[in-house]
Amino acid sequence: MFVEWFIQGESTSIGIGSPVSQQPAKQHTCGRPHCWRLYGFAQAPATMLNVIIVGAGIAGLSAAISLRRAGHCVHLYEKSSMNDEIGAAIHVPPNASRFLTAWGLDPVQWHWVEARHADLVDPFTLQPIAALYKDKSADSVGGLPLWLSHRVDLHNALKWMATRSDGPGAPATIHLDSLVMALNPWKPSITLATGREICGDLVIAADGVHSIAPEAILGRKVVPVDPVNANYCYRFLIPVETLEADPETKFFTEGHWHATVDIHHVIDTFSDFDDRLLKVISKATDVKRWPLLYRHPLPTWSKGRLTLAGDSAHPMLPHQGQGGAQGLEDGLALGIILCGAETPAEIERRLEVYYTTRHRRTSVIQILSNVGADQADLVRDQLRQYMSDDEIPRDYSEARSHNFGFDVVRTTLTAMKDYDPSFRLPDDFFDGPVIGVPGRCKDFVNGGFPSA
Ligand SMILES: Cc1cc2nc3c(=O)[nH]c(=O)nc-3n(C[C@H](O)[C@H](O)[C@H](O)COP(=O)(O)OP(=O)(O)OC[C@H]3O[C@@H](n4cnc5c(N)ncnc54)[C@H](O)[C@@H]3O)c2cc1C
Repeated sequence: MFVEWFIQGESTSIGIGSPVSQQPAKQHTCGRPHCWRLYGFAQAPATMLNVIIVGAGIAGLSAAISLRRAGHCVHLYEKSSMNDEIGAAIHVPPNASRFLTAWGLDPVQWHWVEARHADLVDPFTLQPIAALYKDKSADSVGGLPLWLSHRVDLHNALKWMATRSDGPGAPATIHLDSLVMALNPWKPSITLATGREICGDLVIAADGVHSIAPEAILGRKVVPVDPVNANYCYRFLIPVETLEADPETKFFTEGHWHATVDIHHVIDTFSDFDDRLLKVISKATDVKRWPLLYRHPLPTWSKGRLTLAGDSAHPMLPHQGQGGAQGLEDGLALGIILCGAETPAEIERRLEVYYTTRHRRTSVIQILSNVGADQADLVRDQLRQYMSDDEIPRDYSEARSHNFGFDVVRTTLTAMKDYDPSFRLPDDFFDGPVIGVPGRCKDFVNGGFPSA
């Protein structure tokens, strides 16, 4: 059992689950150096693009899974050796899990735990502001459980799906210790720290908030907004046994929520919070201060055949718990949109479809994430660029519906159908059904395609 808690400015969020693995699940990698076409496709893809992905984080791996399933040859270049992943829990919301499970990810096998509820509380009084219960609102907004995963488990699951040898499509290849220093949108190519230049048909920069790609695309430096006080979070894990051993903190694991910085700094920073919360915080032993970085939405994501995905396109604060999920959605969308693309001109046109399909969604969530989960009203003016007044969430529940109740598969397929009415995904693009949003869900992948 664990309690994960991060404090961000004036809002708190708590995730509770059990159990979380300490050990990553067994890896299944094949290490194939080259790609071939004959990998279990119901219909052989017309042309296999050579896709280069910079960064093997959540977004890069999601794009790799989707693009291999779309029939392309994928190489990821990752600067790290990927053996030092850290982190605590990450919420995998319904808008992301609906296609991860359809791709064959078994949450139980990868040690995810289902949140029984998510609570938003006033940190000064501990009074509940809003709650989301598994058997009530969660299902009705997303149609799927609220999953929590250890970050290492999520990363390993994605890595396995991208590189597994048994298809569909050709396994992606991950090149570790490969720092990318430069990008050329026109060839397109990447240049490694060793000086080696690698050309492909398409380059996807999924290299996080400090990405070098926005400058290559926009021709100017794009820097994150300076973190002010509220843009730091302090993250720590406290064993439930530690809290339960103290009568003063036992309350934290009871009732409806089971709940590298000097700890005194954290306590001073939040000294006006409810005393019981401060007592809980005092139990933390290994606290890290983490700057929370945000950039304003970008006016474009692509140049030539270079595009962005994940935090490199839209870094956001974690107040909506959606940063990783948006990177996962980007990856899914890239695979669908580039399915069947052949010529350079076609790739560039499809990258425009990608931007049009994704930019509004991610910009809205970027802006919403700058305030508390129930404070959309504070950013109403910025949101009006992207949505009507009626669509702007008025409370926590509407914000959740907006975030979770989005079906990126349906939206992307609809965009591709508009682009090319004969568009079809390979039959084995998904292993199982995509669970749609209740009230809007139908099996629309190919077969029963929505008319809207
Ligand atoms: C406190 C906190 C809580 C959060 N909680 C949630 C949550 O509950 N749910 C959720 O969905 N999201 C959450 N997020 C957001 C989420 O963690 C990020 O949005 C997500 O990790 C971004 O993934 P990414 O793949 O785009 O970038 P990254 O994870 O940053 O991955 C980028 C990869 O690129 C590599 N790289 C970078 N530069 C280069 C280079 N030049 N050459 C080669 N490789 C390079 C890096 O080593 C890294 O592996 C949270 C974030 C924070 C800070």
